[in-house]
Amino acid sequence: VAGRCLGRQPMWKGVMRGRIVKGIAGFYYVCCGDRIYECKAKGVFRKDNRKPLVGDWVEMDVLDQAEGLGNISALLPRASQLIRPAVANVDQALVIFAIAKPQPNFNLLDRFLVMMGQQGIPSIVCFNKLDIDEGARAGEYRGIYEACGYRTLAVSAREGFGIEELKGLLAGHATAVAGPSGVGKSSIINCLQSDIVMETGEISLKIERGKHTTRHSELIAIGEDSYILDTPGFSSLGLFDLEKERLADFYPEFAAFEKDCRFGGCAHMGERDCGVKTAVEDGAVSRLRYENYRQLYEELGRMRKF
Ligand code: GDP
Ligand code: ZN
Repeated sequence: VAGRCLGRQPMWKGVMRGRIVKGIAGFYYVCCGDRIYECKAKGVFRKDNRKPLVGDWVEMDVLDQAEGLGNISALLPRASQLIRPAVANVDQALVIFAIAKPQPNFNLLDRFLVMMGQQGIPSIVCFNKLDIDEGARAGEYRGIYEACGYRTLAVSAREGFGIEELKGLLAGHATAVAGPSGVGKSSIINCLQSDIVMETGEISLKIERGKHTTRHSELIAIGEDSYILDTPGFSSLGLFDLEKERLADFYPEFAAFEKDCRFGGCAHMGERDCGVKTAVEDGAVSRLRYENYRQLYEELGRMRKF
């Protein structure tokens, strides 16, 4: 499993290479070969002018093989970097909400999608707790986001429903997994990890997960060349570094109707003859999404510009 976790040779031109799977209080846990080393990163920031992130590929020196201690000597180039959550080398995001208990917070979901859109990372929207979907809401919720171009799915971690489909979407990717607490994120991650642990009886890579809410990002191998980055739960998300005029760029479903706006640069905030507003009235654009757009737009307008 550990070898697969690496996906490349631990030794390369005489240098040990590994991948940061977790970072806590100045220590980085680097998976290298078949084990995990506890490392400092002395000199790296000065040399590479970057702070190591979970997901980074690194070069390391082993300081104490028996104790599993090392020092990160260099960071390898990043394929991608997310600012929020702060992780490296991720190529997609999975955002999890529950269909019920707790009710989904669509405003929070939309913030997350805007944030990922801004960072150029495609998102998958996953609704959990399908087993308690008494009002048959899953179809409605998925429909809203499918219409915006997102891949969606409904699962039940409790019953194991939809987990195979989810695994299919994650295969071959490094996926940042996020969601507010209580939605079943840990339960889903446990389902995703179960094969690996059962297949091999190997648990060394399954670093003890805290009983409490995850407070640190953590890289977890879930199959060959498939990883998830478990990121801390969020309950609120402020938008950042976004001009309000650009917000609509991250509402992909608006694009088809913007040509019907009378004014170029229409903000869809109540201007006359607005194609987007008309589409909302006609039911072609989700009102829920539009209302969240208005709220975020106003929030961005109130933010102090530095
Ligand atoms: P997290 O805070 O998002 O990591 O959520 P947990 O995995 O700790 O789950 C929160 C609560 O939801 C727990 O009581 C779980 O048993 C429950 N839960 C998780 N998945 C499901 C599910 O698919 N269906 C139902 N009914 N409950 C679930
Ligand atoms: Zn408009």
